[in-house]
Amino acid sequence: MKKTNMLIIGSGPAGYTAAVYGARAMLKPIVVQGIQPGGQLTITTEVENWPGIKEIQGPDLMVNLEAHAKVAGASIEHDTINRLDLSQFPFIAHGEGEKKYEARSIVLATGAQANWLGLDSENKYKGFGVSACATCDGFFFRGQVITVIGGGNTAVEEALFLTNFATKVILIHRRDSLRAEKILQERLFKNQKIEIKWNCVVKEIIGTDEPLGVEGIIIENVKKQETLNIPCKGVFVAIGHSPANELIKDQLETHQGGYVVTKNNSTQTSIAGVFAAGDIADFKYRQAVTAAGMGCMAALEAERFISEMEK
Ligand code: FAD
Ligand code: NAP
Repeated sequence: MKKTNMLIIGSGPAGYTAAVYGARAMLKPIVVQGIQPGGQLTITTEVENWPGIKEIQGPDLMVNLEAHAKVAGASIEHDTINRLDLSQFPFIAHGEGEKKYEARSIVLATGAQANWLGLDSENKYKGFGVSACATCDGFFFRGQVITVIGGGNTAVEEALFLTNFATKVILIHRRDSLRAEKILQERLFKNQKIEIKWNCVVKEIIGTDEPLGVEGIIIENVKKQETLNIPCKGVFVAIGHSPANELIKDQLETHQGGYVVTKNNSTQTSIAGVFAAGDIADFKYRQAVTAAGMGCMAALEAERFISEMEK
């Protein structure tokens, strides 16, 4: 059993930033990395919106963050938490095998994963024309035709955002009405650069092998049973995200499809001493820098929680 003042579950930007702040507050934090050490940015190439660094490869940025957390004094565990017991205090986290952690505060930073269509061709072109993050990758498609798949708030916001770069954005939705808020729909319908293909599902993403890149998508209108070939260079899949909430599903309050509820302007969850940072709680921005900011907040709040307890 390892005992700690601060157990950080997850090693993305939120987890490592919490570790830097927690270590500097002399809390001797433990970071449990999980199955994706470094988090989502380890599966991308250029990151061009991390302030202070004009361009860096995602994996390199995360190696730097890990090194910073270590130098600051955090312990890094190559482990995954399989069960978390928040009903007792100190909290107990169960790792692989017999590993256990007893923690006086927890920073939950397990992130979220984009949902994908599940096509082989989608997998093939991920990072080479297929993306799930317009803010991250929109810039790479300046002056091109882009397609966006989905009909929720994210799809509509991404389609609107992508008009800043694209000559044309084509929104592909499987039904004949959108799930997105009315105000967003209004903006979408008014935008001259956006065309909507209703009742359409993506059958295939097509492209070249050398260099690897998207040239278009094949869609099917399910009402008319008609197949269409849409030339485009970028495909943004925006069919929802799944927050990694398995550990806390029945223990913490969640909303917006499973994201952890935090108090206004805080990372405090529905259980005192448990803080949630990054994409696990952030259904709105889902950016590395916002995750890092929330990691900082979580560590500062954990530090205050522990000092209050010791008074
Ligand atoms: P994540 O990075 O999702 O990390 C979650 C961590 O939790 C992982 O280390 C995982 O191993 C761990 N974990 C999960 N479950 C457990 C468990 N049970 N036990 C222990 N650990 C666990 N954002 C930008 O700002 N700029 C970009 O250019 C950019 N590009 C992106 C490109 C791609 C392809 C993707 C997918 C995302 C991109 N993003 C970008 C978004 C950004 O990566 C996320 O917003 C950010 O990584 C969220 O950080 P996080 O710390 O909340 O979680
Ligand atoms: P979402 O609301 O779940 O919408 C997902 C969309 O993708 C739906 O239109 C759905 O179609 C479609 N879809 C799902 N699976 C699909 C598949 N396999 N193939 C094709 N289409 C598929 O997800 P989201 O838009 O990411 O939003 C998630 C949550 O975050 C929501 O609660 C949302 O309100 C919130 N959010 C809020 C803001 C904001 O406040 N500004 C911004 C972004 C997100 P159907 O409609 O047919 O089901």
